[in-house]
Amino acid sequence: MPDHQTTHLARLAAMRQFGFGPEVMKGIKVCRVCGCTCSAGARSCRECGAVLPRETLFDLYKARHLYCPACDTVVARSAIFCPQCGKRLRTGQAVPFSIKNRLFMKEK
Ligand SMILES: [Zn+2]
Ligand SMILES: [Zn+2]
Repeated sequence: MPDHQTTHLARLAAMRQFGFGPEVMKGIKVCRVCGCTCSAGARSCRECGAVLPRETLFDLYKARHLYCPACDTVVARSAIFCPQCGKRLRTGQAVPFSIKNRLFMKEK
């Protein structure tokens, strides 16, 4: 049955259209030696054989970006509400980013 292939292609198409979603990123690890992407389940890099870090791409991304604490969707720095679940995001990390944006806009 072509079901698996169809699902795979649909996921690839969704990735191209919407970028990396949290579920996709949770399944990916990035090699710190050669930078290639590997499966989160892998222990060593498929390209260079280096031991992969514990963090998935999603963990790395969460450390650098604002994300919704309710549904784990990565959201724009300027977002006030999560576009996925509607949760208000005005906590912690969101504040410095919005202040930064406002200061930047004033300069223009
Ligand atoms: Zn590698
Ligand atoms: Zn959310």
